[in-house]
Amino acid sequence: MSVEITRRGFLQAAGLAFATSMAYELSNQSSAFALDTDTEWKLVNTEEYTNVCCYCSGGCGSICSVRDGELISLEGDTDHPINLGALCSKGAAMFQLRSVVTEDTREVIPNPNRKTRPMVRRPGASNWEAIGWDAAIAEIARHVKTTRDASFITTDQNGVTVNRTEAIASLGGSQQNTEECYLILKSMRSLGLVAIDNQARV
Ligand code: SF4
Repeated sequence: MSVEITRRGFLQAAGLAFATSMAYELSNQSSAFALDTDTEWKLVNTEEYTNVCCYCSGGCGSICSVRDGELISLEGDTDHPINLGALCSKGAAMFQLRSVVTEDTREVIPNPNRKTRPMVRRPGASNWEAIGWDAAIAEIARHVKTTRDASFITTDQNGVTVNRTEAIASLGGSQQNTEECYLILKSMRSLGLVAIDNQARV
C-alpha cells in the first residue's frame, strides 16, 4: 500500500518531531542547553532595539541588544529591507561608538572618547568646553538670530525678491528619518537658508 505524503503533511510531521525532540532534550537537561548563560551566551536576558546606522545615507538597519541599559551587541538587522542583515566594515564597527574592549582584560567598557554633552570652542580658544543642553540651544538660537539679521537679503542685484541668508548653512545627519528631514527643511527654508544638505556619504 502506498502512502501519499503532502508537502504540508511532511512539514507538520517534521515540526512535531522537532518539538518532541526539543521537549525531550529540555526535560533531560541536555548538556546542549546547560550553558553558563552569564558568560557563554552573551545575548541572554537582553532586550532588542532596532536602529539605523549613523554613518552614511545607506540607512542600513541594525539590532542593538541591551541589558540593564548597557549595549551588549550590535549586528545587522536581517529583517531590514535595505541591508538584509549585512553591514559594511564601518557599520559593523558601530558598536565601538558606545563601548570598547580593553586590551588587557578584554572587558567591555563605555568608550571614554564618546561625547555625551554639547561642546563649544570659544573664539580664540584652543580647548573645547562642555556646556549644558539648554545653554547650547540658547547660544545656537542667539547666533542664528544675530547672523540672520546681519546677513538677510530681501532682493538680489536685479531687484528680484529672494528673502534669504547665505551666511548660515544646515547639514543634517544620516540618522534623521524622512519626517525629521522634512521638518528640518521646512524650518530652515522659513529662516531663508539656501545652503541645506544632508550628510549622505561615508
Ligand atoms: S556606513 Fe555601511 S552599514 Fe552604515 S549605512 Fe552606510 S553602507 Fe550601511
